[in-house]
Amino acid sequence: MHQLLERAHSRLRDNAAAGPLNVEHVKALILESISQWESDDEPRTLDDMDVGFGGRPSKVQLGIRRIEHGRLRRLAIRYVGQLETYLAGSGRESVPVAFELGFGRKGEDGETRPPLEIGRPPYTVFLQGSVDRVDRVGVDGRRFRVIDYKTGTAPSQLKVKSGQALQLPLYTMAVDALGLVPMVGGDNQVEFGYWELSRRGYIPIKIEEWQQYIDNIHNFTANLISLMQKSAFNVSSRQEDCTDSCEHSSMCRVGQIRHLGKTWTQAPLMAGGAGSKPDEVNGEGGE
Ligand code: SF4
Repeated sequence: MHQLLERAHSRLRDNAAAGPLNVEHVKALILESISQWESDDEPRTLDDMDVGFGGRPSKVQLGIRRIEHGRLRRLAIRYVGQLETYLAGSGRESVPVAFELGFGRKGEDGETRPPLEIGRPPYTVFLQGSVDRVDRVGVDGRRFRVIDYKTGTAPSQLKVKSGQALQLPLYTMAVDALGLVPMVGGDNQVEFGYWELSRRGYIPIKIEEWQQYIDNIHNFTANLISLMQKSAFNVSSRQEDCTDSCEHSSMCRVGQIRHLGKTWTQAPLMAGGAGSKPDEVNGEGGE
């Protein structure tokens, strides 16, 4: 789905003069991209499939592939409706300008961009990742919106604020700090949100004090590294029901620890605990 959206929006960006998106145009391009993809993805020989009989894919395999095509087509059509709502609301005067932007490694466009460094010296790490999409918002070209597509449910605002869902904020920091999209002069603003493809469309995440929030992320990261260097590798997960759906739960020790009723009472938290310096944090706790 990401590739389909990237393909359609990239064509729009490359072929059209910069300006507001036209929903009908986007819809036509997305449907065209889907048809093209379905045609390219249609298995014709054994080599196109993982398994098969007699040099040809089986009817079951073809059926599964077509169900998948239908699912993606429905998702894409739903996306067009969501886009219409977006363009009438918070996405008014927005233009998608970048897709699948890699950093810290070679991106799909062949460019190698630097990694994002987070933490506080000497407790720092370098991150790599790939940003789904960046929209330029507003007429002055100084506001950028980092968007993460989700086929499932997006993390809540609370999870993002408390540091339990940091991927998108970190990607936003990368866009800002590494200059992943061309920005005009200084004084640029970055914001971010999830795009729930199967349900709610674009969901903005509001962080009132962005600079403070970034500081918290750096401190929290430094705390975690400091704890790891002290071998405080406690088995712990803040998501209480993660073992219900995780495919690794049968071999993950979190399930065993919970079964025994053990908790890590001093597990570091970003909100509140993250403002302290690394060495002030005592993460030693018992399994
Ligand atoms: S079950 Fe283990 S591996 Fe899976 S999400 Fe929970 S902590 Fe992570």
